[in-house]
Amino acid sequence: MGYERLRERMVERQLARRGIRDERVLEAMRRVPRERFVAPGDRPEAYDDVPLAIGAGQTISQPYMVALIAEAAAVRRGSKVLDVGTGSGYAAAVFAELGADVHTIERIPELAEQARENLRAAGYGDVHVHVGDGSLGVPEEAPFDAIAVAAAAPGLPPALYEQLVTGGRLVVPVGGPAGQRLEVVVRTPEGPAVVHSVECRFVPLVGAGGFRGRGGGR
Ligand code: SAM
Repeated sequence: MGYERLRERMVERQLARRGIRDERVLEAMRRVPRERFVAPGDRPEAYDDVPLAIGAGQTISQPYMVALIAEAAAVRRGSKVLDVGTGSGYAAAVFAELGADVHTIERIPELAEQARENLRAAGYGDVHVHVGDGSLGVPEEAPFDAIAVAAAAPGLPPALYEQLVTGGRLVVPVGGPAGQRLEVVVRTPEGPAVVHSVECRFVPLVGAGGFRGRGGGR
């Protein structure tokens, strides 16, 4: 089966049937060539319902998780978005396909370099890829309309919340290896408002505003 049909099947079976309703997200995921963001040897599995290894002990997220985050972040055309945990660059490409001005940050330089190449090859060369501790955000580019985190944090990372516009959304998995919840937090004049929370499973956010050290221990 060709990639286009695999992509269509992924959208229908893994996303729409599981409750992703935002037609713009479904359309974006119909368009981004996920096979360009996985290791060449894994291309036949690019549209499987799983995360896949991308090197350095990291993964490209499961398609459903990318869709869930994109829907929860309410990314609109012209939104300024920060994607924390670039990994392969796939989620950043989905945000770009939604029409956002995308900044993404990855702590592992080799992955950031590979993601830059993946994004360029897939036609998303205008995504800005930063290297550094994304738990501290990208203050020089703030404020953002939405910040999406693709790694689990021990709690709401304060620096990320501070880099939102009022009304902006922070989507972040919160919790340890035993269990996490994907929290959707809106910045309001009264303080953070958690508007939605569902179970999920992500690799740890490693850094000053995340878990300390490589293994994910505090
Ligand atoms: N969304 C990505 C994709 O589509 O390929 C997958 C991201 S992967 C599940 C999580 C990524 O977060 C890893 O590449 C990891 O190195 C990165 N990461 C973990 N802690 C980080 C931090 N403090 N700052 C930036 N990146 C971080």
